[in-house]
Amino acid sequence: MSQKILVTGANGYIAMHVVSMLIKQGHHVRGTVRNLSDSDKVESLKRLGPIELYQADLLDAESWKKPCDGVDIVMHIASPLPVVAPSDENLVIRPAVEGTLNVFNAALNANVKRVVFTSSGLCVSGYDYKSRTFNEDDWVDISEAKTPYQKSKILAERAAWNFVDERKQKNEKCFEMAVIVPTFVLGPVLSAASGSSVTKFSRIFDQNTRKIDEMYAATCDVRDVALAHVKAAFEEKAVGHRNLITSGRNLFSIKNWLDILKHEFSGYSFPEVVSDQEKAKEIQETVFDNSRMKSILGIEPIDFNSTILDMTKSLIEYGIITKP
Ligand code: NAP
Repeated sequence: MSQKILVTGANGYIAMHVVSMLIKQGHHVRGTVRNLSDSDKVESLKRLGPIELYQADLLDAESWKKPCDGVDIVMHIASPLPVVAPSDENLVIRPAVEGTLNVFNAALNANVKRVVFTSSGLCVSGYDYKSRTFNEDDWVDISEAKTPYQKSKILAERAAWNFVDERKQKNEKCFEMAVIVPTFVLGPVLSAASGSSVTKFSRIFDQNTRKIDEMYAATCDVRDVALAHVKAAFEEKAVGHRNLITSGRNLFSIKNWLDILKHEFSGYSFPEVVSDQEKAKEIQETVFDNSRMKSILGIEPIDFNSTILDMTKSLIEYGIITKP
């Protein structure tokens, strides 16, 4: 059945895929952008199909009232993802945490039925992967958070659960919540405005980058992340749970990206990867459990090769990377 669904930060990398999927499924889609006069972002969104747009800022509680009014479901995806950490961590933490509460209060007052909240794998495992299995029961302690972004995501997800649990305990009305926990997101872009993970990936095509430090990360495809949001909006068993979205069970590295790309994209000179043998050994047995993604949300992860190749093709199409 067609629903009225609000997507916050609709112009973002992940959110655009969510919007596109919802429109294709015939839902009435509303989206927020930070600035309606930003014609690049607004036009990219309108190209996806019919969408009702509102202007809203995470730190402006009032701005969320109109977008939430009359919607059935809210997908709260907006949150700052700086490529470089700001000197003042509150520039990231405040919009993430206060923004979540502003959106949740507006959703509550508008009698929204369900909120799908976007968290991050950095709340589950942090940056230091140890040889062990991670699943939805794992939480990084805030005292161990390494970056303002990681702190912002841990505090925002904690605030989201507290908001819902407190009301449930007092038998007060509250929407249902399902949490989506994506690991490092890669895959095709739907506009030329690139988010933080796209910028990190694109560095390997910068012909001035000769050496690059190896990076290991649990990774997922942006199309699987979008599908997870859409499924969680309708699947009862997703409610009251964190749902970890990750493609392979193990970690991928920049070397893995390059092994795939070198076969398909000749003409680029890719950087040399500086690897850390000790680290490679440490993470050999690290596993991310994607059984909830598969069994509850019914998503079979997209093959990692397709994620990397489709992403690169889209970056060329949108002019984010150019052939040398
Ligand atoms: P993105 O492309 O940078 O999108 C972030 C969105 O949030 C943008 O629409 C941005 O608007 C909006 N936003 C930021 N600050 C705002 C503010 N103060 N008021 C209103 N809107 C604001 O990032 P993404 O990769 O799609 O990430 C989307 C969500 O997924 C985030 O919650 C992120 O933490 C989570 N996530 C991402 C990854 C990943 O690898 N990309 C992994 C795990 C979780 P502007 O365009 O105006 O800045």
